[in-house]
Formats: sequence, C-alpha cells, structure tokens
Amino acid sequence: MFIDNLKAGMHYKLYKRRNVYDKMVVEIKNEYIPDLEYKDIILEFLSALKESERIVFLNNLKNIKIINSNDDFEFRKGMVSGGGYDIYNNIIYINPKTAHKTLYHELFHVATSTFDHKHKKAYSGFYQCKNVSIGRALNEGYTQYITESTFGDKVQKVYSYDVSVMKRIEMLVGKGNLRRLYFGMDLKGLIKALEEYANYDDIINFIKTFDMVHDILNSDNFYNLSEGYVVNNLVKINKFLFKMYIIKYIDEKGCINPDDPELIEFLTNTNLYASTSTKIYDLNCHELVNIVLGEVADEMEKAKVNIID
Ligand SMILES: [Zn+2]
Repeated sequence: MFIDNLKAGMHYKLYKRRNVYDKMVVEIKNEYIPDLEYKDIILEFLSALKESERIVFLNNLKNIKIINSNDDFEFRKGMVSGGGYDIYNNIIYINPKTAHKTLYHELFHVATSTFDHKHKKAYSGFYQCKNVSIGRALNEGYTQYITESTFGDKVQKVYSYDVSVMKRIEMLVGKGNLRRLYFGMDLKGLIKALEEYANYDDIINFIKTFDMVHDILNSDNFYNLSEGYVVNNLVKINKFLFKMYIIKYIDEKGCINPDDPELIEFLTNTNLYASTSTKIYDLNCHELVNIVLGEVADEMEKAKVNIID
C-alpha cells in the first residue's frame, strides 16, 4: 500500500478551527459537558498532553460516543481486551469495571486518529489503513508505551513485546522526535527517520513482520503455529533493530566498545522474548549479538572495498 502523510488540507482544517478548541478547553474545565462519561479521566488525560497535541483529541471529543459493556470485548476473533477505539465511527468501547485502568490507552488513540473521508483512509498514530493496513504493532506498542510512561502503575500492562520494540525505536529516533511523529500520525516520517540506519525495503519488511508477530501474539492463531516459525520472526525483528543500532553507534562513536553501558542497555533491553499467558520464548542473546556484529563488520568491509574502487 502507499504510505503517505495526512493530506495537508486536513491539517489546515484542524488548525483553522483552533479557536473553537481553545474555547472547548475552557468549557471542559468548567464542566460544561455533563453527558460525557469518565470526565475525570478525560480531564486528567487532557492535562497530560502538550497544547499542540490536543487539537485532534478535542476535535474527536466533540462527537465521541462511549459505549459501556460489562463484558470484555472480542474485537477480533480470539482477541479479548478491556477496551477499543473505532476510528471510523469515533466510538470508544470500554468495560466500566476496568475503565480506570484501560481508558487512558484508548484516549491516546482518540488523540491520534482521524479518518480522511475524501481518500477513504484511516490514520491512527503509526497505523494507516486503506483496504489493507500497516503499522498496527508500531502503533499499539507506542500507544501502550506512552500510556505507561505518562500514567505509570495505574494503567493496565498489555502488549509488553510491542512496548519493548518501541523503546528500541525510541533509542534510534529520539524521544521528542518519536512523540511528535506519533501525534502527527506520520508513519512516513518515522520511516524516513529510520532510513538513516536501514534501507526502505528492509524497514517496510520489519514493519510487516512486526505486524504479523503482533497479530500472532494476540490471537488464537498463536497456538496453531510452530514454535520455530514464531521464534524465527522474533529473531528477524531483533536482528533488524540491533543492526540499526550498531550502525547508529558506529556513526556516532567510530568503533564498538563492548563495555559501553549504552550498548549493553540496548542489548539487554532488546526484548529477546515474547510471551503470552502460556508460552514464553527465550532467544539466545549472545549468539544473536555475535551474528549481527559479524554481518555488520562484513558489510563495512564491503563498503570499504567499494570506496577504494
Ligand atoms: Zn490500542
């Protein structure tokens, strides 16, 4: 699929109506929206956003529907969750019993989602969908990461594998930069930032593999697949992340110092396992490090030869 930015006109429309949003902030603070449930959580959420990050949220909030259910929701076959956000119809589905733990995550989706009616394309953080979708794992991982880092222990911990991958992406792209790209619904910008360390096709492959692993880990499918298949894809993702990091590291520091705490942090935090309630995959960290270092050294050797030529 064609990955693009939100159309310029869409941003313009949102900014043009900014006065309306400023007014709305005041109204929300004065509690002029009596029929909106979970108002305390919504206000707490709003105050955690930077002013420039509030536009999409307040726009969606104007006509949002919040639908309660006492049961957990089954959004996709076999995937049960405490909540969900429907981008197309601007509806939050939430279980009121767990809303105080799960609503924050959904509100981040509300703050970073829009449907471009003209081009029939949905944008949500790092996710885009027009007939087919891409960036589901990047988006869920970062949404959960930012939810946990903003609201701490009070939120429900989910998507731990996706979160660990996004922590590595943050180390590559930079904290402020990644956050800005997320609120800008700018998958294209994220790919561009990663192109400092990898080529476009490899980045797209990584995003698709990450999506597939995300779907597997969160569905019944998981149990029908061979362990080797899952592990191979996890290794692929880890290798890709580590390789980009080594390239960044060599760019910045010239050579590898294996005792550098920053390098060790990246390695030890690169989540070399993924788990569900019943299965945990542990991958051999040291073996992977040696393989990737060998590959990067080979590529650099080849590059040297090319320069001499
Ligand atoms: Zn989500």
